Parts: sequence; C-alpha cells; structure tokens
Amino acid sequence: MSNCRKLLNELSNFLDNEIEPGLREELEKHIAKCPHCYVVFDSTKKTIQIFRGCDPYELPETLHRKLQEAVRKQYEDSTRNRP
Ligand SMILES: [Zn+2]
Repeated sequence: MSNCRKLLNELSNFLDNEIEPGLREELEKHIAKCPHCYVVFDSTKKTIQIFRGCDPYELPETLHRKLQEAVRKQYEDSTRNRP
C-alpha cells in the first residue's frame, strides 16, 4: 500500500487523534514530503474545524432575539401610530 493511500484511509482517524503514535508519525512524515497529501490533509482539517467551531445553538438564539426585536418594534410602532 502506498503512503498516499494509507493517509487517505487513516485521515479521519488521524484528525480525530484516534491513531497509534507510530502510524501517526509515519503519516506526518509523509505529509511533510508529499504536497498532494498535504493539501488533502490541510483542507480536510480546516473543514472539520469550521464545522466544530460552529455552535449549533448560536443561530436559533440569534434568530429568536431578532424575532423578539421585530415583534417589539412592530408593537411599538403600532402603539405610537394609534390615534
Ligand atoms: Zn502522498
């Protein structure tokens, strides 16, 4: 098995730190030497970081606040315009 294929097979384990130290070292050495694997490794790592950095509760909370604001504004406008 070529090191490139080995890296692709182990990439998710590698990024999850679920890999034996010897194999990890071997793959790290390969990434340092192989531009193709470096790009694959780097872009996959960044994609995972974006997903993990995203708090799934942040959006609904913001949305909730915006809705409350919109409702309050509508209420204030309607009371202000009342004759
Ligand atoms: Zn490679």
